[in-house]
Amino acid sequence: MLHCATLWTAKLNFMSAMDCMVKLVCKDYGFECNFVADDDDPTNVIVKFGKHTTEEHGIEYSKEAIMQFILRRS
Ligand SMILES: [Zn+2]
Repeated sequence: MLHCATLWTAKLNFMSAMDCMVKLVCKDYGFECNFVADDDDPTNVIVKFGKHTTEEHGIEYSKEAIMQFILRRS
């Protein structure tokens, strides 16, 4: 398993990772929903959250859009 800071830097080009665990809560994005996507690999969070919003809410976010959600949380 790669160190999370390496993952952040490599996959999101994000220089200061404060927290390894990345978490997106569906409710925070305006849905009446208790779905939570969390993982210590941001890529998995992007995949999980994107799949969920597409399948459950019929809204397809791009990978880049979800990445912005994650970055803005910090
Ligand atoms: Zn949801």
